[in-house]
Amino acid sequence: KKIIFSGAQPSGKMTLGNYLGAIKNWTELQNEYECFFSVVDLHAITVPQEAKVLRENAMKLLAQYIACGLDPEKNTIFIQSHVKEHLELMWVLNTMTYMGELSRMTQFKDKSQKSEANLNAGLFTYPVLMAADILLYQTDLVPVGDDQKQHLELARDLANRFNNRYSPTFKIPEGYYPKGGARVMSLQEPTKKMSKSDSNENAFILLEDDPDTIRRKIKRSVTDSEGVVRYSPEQPGIKNLLDIYSALSGKPVDEIVKMYEGKGYGDFKTDTAEVIVGALEPMREKYLYLLNNKDYLEKIYSEGAQKAEAKARKTLRKVYRKVGFLERK
Ligand code: ATP
Ligand code: MG
Repeated sequence: KKIIFSGAQPSGKMTLGNYLGAIKNWTELQNEYECFFSVVDLHAITVPQEAKVLRENAMKLLAQYIACGLDPEKNTIFIQSHVKEHLELMWVLNTMTYMGELSRMTQFKDKSQKSEANLNAGLFTYPVLMAADILLYQTDLVPVGDDQKQHLELARDLANRFNNRYSPTFKIPEGYYPKGGARVMSLQEPTKKMSKSDSNENAFILLEDDPDTIRRKIKRSVTDSEGVVRYSPEQPGIKNLLDIYSALSGKPVDEIVKMYEGKGYGDFKTDTAEVIVGALEPMREKYLYLLNNKDYLEKIYSEGAQKAEAKARKTLRKVYRKVGFLERK
């Protein structure tokens, strides 16, 4: 079986962007592949987090993975900080990564602009940790949103670099991108991606938002003064809503555009909100139920860590030997 690795950060709560760009695809892969899905809390602390909130968000994200349809029996679902091999491999890869490579990363540029007060080294080396996450499991495919393309490219480069310098050790992972390249954009600044760590709550839809909150956020979403529902890069707000509507309803964009010929944004927004509510509500109910079953969630992540660790140790042992570390007797 081919191996899949992916993760999301508990840096906030799961957004519609995370769902459409990532988790929805994961659920389609779990029957065919051996999958590792992680709550990547080590990544989350590259931007400031409050301890209590971070712990809650990790639990919530885990519950959402399952509520969205990931089966804990079929997949290895775990919390990243429980498997220390991620950090050990990261250190080795760090010594093989060039400063220049990391300075070119768009996410670093974006996030460092947003939090200049916290321009920490972790934010800079984040892609190296992500490479370690992927390479540890000898991953074949990495389903991610297209905002992660550049990071994945680095993971491939590092795998090749290590294999060439020593001997074949890592599988070279391929990206697996959602059909249609779904990148969900911010509802407030539709030229930027929707991000769960956005400080403006109206910019994103959360999987845990109740129907009225969803309706309100869509109503307030930023559009334009054209007044015509059209799929055009000049109307990024409307384009984004069309993409969301289409992804959740399965209707092609053209068909939706036709449905709103001669109608204003009001109708279109109202219907878009209902499509979102209809898709998210069943998942939200399951999520709320799971959150009240902490023991069950703890059991899932404990077992997940054990399975992940066993696989990760194998790779790390090889790496340490090749690099030239003396084996502890
Ligand atoms: P942060 O702002 O803290 O980075 P995020 O919303 O980008 O949070 P991540 O945990 O970094 O979420 O990403 C989890 C997965 O969701 C990744 O595979 C990423 O590609 C995907 N993803 C994130 N945002 C979007 C988006 N707006 N559209 C599509 N996919 C997305
Ligand atoms: Mg991100």
